[in-house]
Amino acid sequence: MSDVTDRYRTSVHEAAHAVACVVFRIAFKWVSVVSDGSVLGRTVLDVRPPAPWRTAHGRLRYLGELIKSELAGVAAEYDFCERHRWSTVALSLYAQQDIDSAQRRIDAARRVRIAIPNLDVYQLRASRFVVAHRGRIEAVADELIMRDTLSAAEVRGLVNVPKRAAR
Ligand SMILES: [Zn+2]
Repeated sequence: MSDVTDRYRTSVHEAAHAVACVVFRIAFKWVSVVSDGSVLGRTVLDVRPPAPWRTAHGRLRYLGELIKSELAGVAAEYDFCERHRWSTVALSLYAQQDIDSAQRRIDAARRVRIAIPNLDVYQLRASRFVVAHRGRIEAVADELIMRDTLSAAEVRGLVNVPKRAAR
């Protein structure tokens, strides 16, 4: 793979994480496509345990949004770069780490008896999220390609999510 292709793919991947954070109101600090040797890019989350859950529905939705934001990067790579389905592509180590992390969240939820869907359900939802927000992801990816790193505020400025965006 050429550097240009790698950079485009990484930008799309990280842009999808960042757009998901904005849409789901998950705090994050910045997003970058600068390689540090171990990863090609990163979106730095600022996730804290939320206040005690008022409803089981609220807890499940929060978990689901975290999981979808983790899977959105890989979903965007498929949507923008591959046009394959989840099951047909040999994943990079980079992508596999996101999927492993999402699976760990699902496993942790089940250990405390939260009835949560399987990973493949969230993969499908993440793919739908990417399709619904493709223009926003593209705008952030284009800016990342030019500028390497964007703060959360800069991403919010680009994404301009209305109060009730589709989730
Ligand atoms: Zn990722």
